[in-house]
Amino acid sequence: MPGGKPAATPKGRQVDPAARVEVAALLGARSRARDLLIEHLHLIQDAKGCLPTALLAALAEAMRLSLAEVYEVATFYAHFEVVDGPAPAPSTVVRVCDSLTCAMMGAARLHAALANADLTGAKIVRAPCMGACDKAPAVAVGHRQIAPASLDAVRRALAAPSPEPVPVSHPDLAAYRAAGGYRTLAACRAGQLTLDAVTAALDTAGLRGLGGAGFPTARKWRLVAAQPGPRLMVVNADEGEPGTFKDRHYLERDPHRFLEGALIAATLVGVEAVYIYLRDEYPAIRQTLIREIAALEAAGLSGGVRVHLRRGAGAYICGEESALIESIEGKRGLPRNRPPYVAQVGLFGRPTLVNNVETLCWVRDIVERGPAWFADQGRRGAKGVRSFSLSGRVREPGVKLAPAGITARELIDAYGGGMAPGHAFRAYLPGGASGGILPAALADLPLEFGALEPYGCFVGSHAVIVLSDQDDLRAAALNLMRFFEDESCGQCTPCRVGTEKAAALMARPDWDTGLLDELIRTMADASICGLGQAAGNPVRALLRHFPEVLR
Ligand code: SF4
Repeated sequence: MPGGKPAATPKGRQVDPAARVEVAALLGARSRARDLLIEHLHLIQDAKGCLPTALLAALAEAMRLSLAEVYEVATFYAHFEVVDGPAPAPSTVVRVCDSLTCAMMGAARLHAALANADLTGAKIVRAPCMGACDKAPAVAVGHRQIAPASLDAVRRALAAPSPEPVPVSHPDLAAYRAAGGYRTLAACRAGQLTLDAVTAALDTAGLRGLGGAGFPTARKWRLVAAQPGPRLMVVNADEGEPGTFKDRHYLERDPHRFLEGALIAATLVGVEAVYIYLRDEYPAIRQTLIREIAALEAAGLSGGVRVHLRRGAGAYICGEESALIESIEGKRGLPRNRPPYVAQVGLFGRPTLVNNVETLCWVRDIVERGPAWFADQGRRGAKGVRSFSLSGRVREPGVKLAPAGITARELIDAYGGGMAPGHAFRAYLPGGASGGILPAALADLPLEFGALEPYGCFVGSHAVIVLSDQDDLRAAALNLMRFFEDESCGQCTPCRVGTEKAAALMARPDWDTGLLDELIRTMADASICGLGQAAGNPVRALLRHFPEVLR
């Protein structure tokens, strides 16, 4: 105040000198650029097991950010735990997945058993889908995933000196190159393969975005290439749609195939840098990618395109491309309003090409084997193959590479080994949590983009969860709505409040179907992004296809 007494201390939380020293030691020579905020929060969380507010204040000072900015990011992501005061005694976090397939396979019983057991030094929390639905129920003990999990398996993991992830063996750079890998990239760099030639092949093949949106890949490449440079590229490796684990399969078993696809796209579209955004639930894959990207750069194969690996922090909404971009910029994952589209104004304000892992995996094969090889594998007018994440009440769950246009009945019988013993086919989710629920009577529809929309559903990321006569459909729909309630970013009222109100209505013994219908229509019409727009799909599906369960 003019003329008032100067304050005895500066405003705001003061930085503790010891915390300043500790944060400086943790950051070392790393860049303090703003977009690295989430990476630096991981450094502290990994070292301390939590984020003490004293260290957040020191980090804010080191990065020249306000404490409010650091705090809002730290509290947005589920894998960060902010603690006001000194760090508590270290504990190992045991995350118990409670998404639909794990819930069907006994996650609630397992959670109760773990919570009631004497597990010294463990902290039991519930968690959303961790991409292990084919081996449900899944648990993560620290960074190590156990699936199928049991109390004894968790005890054994906790007894291990350091529960670290166990990587899956895969062809390394030398093996991949020995099998012809990176020759197509070299042809692109040499000008023997042009953007026009490769996008023509992708068009003929019918390659579409396999993260869930199904946008034609070639058209996306051309759209971004037509924008003024510098351009950037983002690889979406954040598959978080409950029931989806196919990208994990490719990342674990053939990491160079998608890396080559990404570098082909970067070369032809004229991209300066590629940012791979990997979900935090896949720590073993992260180790693999750190090693293989370093090998790629050491071999000179990245060709001047910088490849950055960024780590998610437990937020489903960051699978949405604009939220993912916000997260790479070191912010909360809040979806952006469009237009402008990310192809025009994306990462750091630059035109940005966003592709999913599996989409990029197919690029090399389509170019080398020819587009007909891919396209002709489809059925019922659909082109190509699809990697279905098949889980639930089937005999043999897993990633199933099957023709595009296959039906759920064919998928279950020919690829899933039929129904699990003692279970009769009753219903299925064609596209994870947001794709709706269809009855077995509609299991002869093609599982393809555009084919299920007339029935109020969609195939999305091709995560098929099979339910039987022994599953409670209302409980399943409530499980899905609670997931959306937890994962809503909170930015817009129809979604933030709508998911909460819908979950409360669905928890009652008698559903007020008129009110629920009105609520989910409002959410679909007025929410900013796909989460709020699709959150009501399972409810709408029950109202439309399963009136008997609502009587
Ligand atoms: Fe966030 Fe939900 Fe709105 Fe999407 S619809 S912006 S997740 S609140």
